[in-house]
Amino acid sequence: MPSSHNGHISITGVSKYYGRHKALDDVSLEIPPGTVTVILGPSGSGKSTLLRTINHLERVDEGFIQIDGDYIGYRRKGDKLYEMKEKEILRQRINVGYVFQNFNLFPHLTVLENLIEAPIAHKQVTRKEAIARAYELLDVVGLRNKADAWSRHLSGGQQQRICIARALAVEPDVLLMDEATSALDPISTSKIEDLAMELKSEYTIVMVTHNMQQAARVSDQTAFFLLGDLVEYGDTEQ
Ligand code: ADP
Repeated sequence: MPSSHNGHISITGVSKYYGRHKALDDVSLEIPPGTVTVILGPSGSGKSTLLRTINHLERVDEGFIQIDGDYIGYRRKGDKLYEMKEKEILRQRINVGYVFQNFNLFPHLTVLENLIEAPIAHKQVTRKEAIARAYELLDVVGLRNKADAWSRHLSGGQQQRICIARALAVEPDVLLMDEATSALDPISTSKIEDLAMELKSEYTIVMVTHNMQQAARVSDQTAFFLLGDLVEYGDTEQ
């Protein structure tokens, strides 16, 4: 399991354009390790764009992002940042867990096979080690009894819990969740929220949502976005 001291995300002066549209406008944000931070805001305010920049699924146009001091997508030489090669970007990306809105498990694989694929392919672990880790994670998400099920036969809530387990199978420090509960019923949603709160002692979690109640329930910090601007950031209680 990763140390609770890793996973500090530092976002500095990030702007992002889609053509002439400025989707993110000079956003700076410090996300401490071992916390849940919710990115909240109306549709189209740049929340998903920000999340995607954290593992370089989107390239920033200005500013930079670091996790534990490492530049995301870039390497520093002197005063300049140079974009990494695709292979290096993929290697870096594998260390940031990402959970999408539409559960994207491999439908032709069992739950267990979904969980061991990335660690074996990208982390040089043996099949035996990957299976042991997969069962640990199935316990964490409460679905050990589904190890041999086809992922397509699970409910939406179960699939999303497996997606979280799969994201954690490569032992990331950071877990990004993009509207991970918006396609789920209230009971499944609250299970995912409980899971996020449980996991935060070991991972830095950043969740995008447009649901104010969800932010209040799960987050330590909330960052509120409007039209690409970070308009408020602080303790959720405030
Ligand atoms: P949110 O997650 O808050 O709903 P997004 O980050 O998805 O917002 O989008 C922010 C803005 O950027 C929106 O106006 C959206 O239409 C635009 N946008 C997002 N992705 C793209 C893209 N790939 N190409 C062009 N415009 C985009």
